[in-house]
Formats: sequence, C-alpha cells, structure tokens
Amino acid sequence: MSNKIITIIYIILIILLIDLIVYLLISQGILQAPKIFNITEQKIEVKNISDEVPQFYSNMKFNHNEITYTIENLCPEKTRQRVLDAFIELSNLTDKIITFTQTENNPDIEVICSRENEEAISEEYFIAGEGGAKQIISTGLYSVISNGTIYLYESKDLNKCNWPNVEIHELLHVLGFEHSTSKESLMYPYLTSCDQKLDEKIIQVIKELYSQPNLPDLYFENISANQKGKYLSFNTTIKNIGVVNSKLVNISVLDNGEIVKSIELEPIPYGAGLKLNIQNLKISHLNPEKLELVIDLENKIKEIDRTNNQVQLI
Ligand SMILES: [Zn+2]
Repeated sequence: MSNKIITIIYIILIILLIDLIVYLLISQGILQAPKIFNITEQKIEVKNISDEVPQFYSNMKFNHNEITYTIENLCPEKTRQRVLDAFIELSNLTDKIITFTQTENNPDIEVICSRENEEAISEEYFIAGEGGAKQIISTGLYSVISNGTIYLYESKDLNKCNWPNVEIHELLHVLGFEHSTSKESLMYPYLTSCDQKLDEKIIQVIKELYSQPNLPDLYFENISANQKGKYLSFNTTIKNIGVVNSKLVNISVLDNGEIVKSIELEPIPYGAGLKLNIQNLKISHLNPEKLELVIDLENKIKEIDRTNNQVQLI
C-alpha cells in the first residue's frame, strides 16, 4: 500500500474517532444544555354532587357503604329504638345503598346520650341534640368522613314525634348535610312541626355519592422534567385524590413506548401525595419521539379514573 492510502485511512479513522467522542459527549449531556420539557398538566375536574343541598364540604361521604355505629349504654331504651328506626328509615329511603351495622369498637358513628361526653355544642343547634362529622379528609374529588357523633339528650322534643325526626336530622349532619332555611324541611334548625319532611334531594345526593366506587385515584399533581443527553430527570408528586388508600403500584418511564424504568411506589393514603425526584435516569434514545410517565401501566389496581394516569413529556 502506498503511503497516500495509509494516510487517507488514518484520516478517516481520526474523523470516526472524533465523531464517536462528540456523540459520547452529547449523549452524556456534556456538550448540550438540558432540554426543559413543557408539560401540559392534567386538570382535575371536580363535580360537586351536593350542589343543591349543601354539605359542610363538597362531596362529603364515608369511604364505604356499610356504616358502623355504637350506641352508648347510657342511652334510654326508647332513644336506642328511635336511633335504630332512623338508621333503618334512611337505609330504606336510599334503596339500601347505605346500611348501618352495630359494631364493638371503632365505629363510624357514635351515638351518645350522656352529657358528660358533651363537647362544645352551640346554642343555635338543633333541639334535643346535635350531630356532626368529626374528622374529614379532603382528597380533591371527595371529602371523606372518618367518623361522626350524634348527641341525643333527654328533652321534651326528643320523643315529640312518632317518626324519628330528631334522630334522622342528626344522622344527616353526620353524613355532611347542613341546615335548611325552609321551615318545612327536616333539616330546618328547629323542630317546629312533626310534619317537617326529609328533602327528596338529600336522598338523591346520598344515592349518587354512595353509588360512586370507593377506590383510590392516582394522578401526577405537579411535574417538571428535563433531558440532558440521554439522561432524564423529573420531579413530580403522585397524589391520591380518591377515597381509599392505594396499594403498591409502579410508575413506568417509557421511551418510544418501551419501558426504560419501573419505579415501585409505596401505598399512598387517600388525600396524600408522594414526592418523586428522579435524577439522571438513562433512557434509550438521544432524541426520543415520545417520552411518557405512566402510573400502573399493567392495570394492577382499580381506580376511579384511569385516564389521568399518564403524562407525556414529549
Ligand atoms: Zn341541626
């Protein structure tokens, strides 16, 4: 071989080597400024089911339809019977979408008759007792009631009507319903007549709230991401806006539809969020056509809404 050919081969090799070095430097993100992604975040639309009959917070409900109760031993037999009637009445009126079951401990609803257990009760409250939800967690889609109390005290009003007006009124407070300004309504703050009626709209709202599935709902609340060479970094909060805790679930990073990383998430309690900060995750392509993050790609858990499980970076 002539010297000339050898020189040409050397030059080609040097060019190839330089190309390789430049490619390596770019793919390692050394020669490039990071690409910051402009991500369209999902907006969560919350439908207020209880628009027409106000609740203390929007969409207040227990996160299960079989609601448990205890009735304090100090409650007179008559009161106990009327409370049971109230539970049966409300369950029947809602086509048994909610039921009430007695329990030994950790009840959803505590019925108390002795004043020793009385907590601050305001004068403006209903007649012979008061009731209300005590612990509420607003998750985004719902306000989940953890527990509530019904106070029923001996008074002339308590057993005034044949129908358990007072007991149902208090029970509806526990379920989140506010007072009504209509004198004909059972939810009017005062028992002016035994003819006060339970508003049909309240029944409709209870049926609608409790016909929704009691599930978690995970979505990407905030997200920022950038790519430097072949390395992806992102910062996000996965929030559970549903009504029950989520189970173990994976977040997948997809590069042109292929999984490059699967990250296992701890169960997220309802209403809570989990911050996820991933730095320098190596992806497959320097310039992918599509980069996505997906919650539960394999459909392992049931959620209220699965359309909000995906976010596209590119
Ligand atoms: Zn009241």
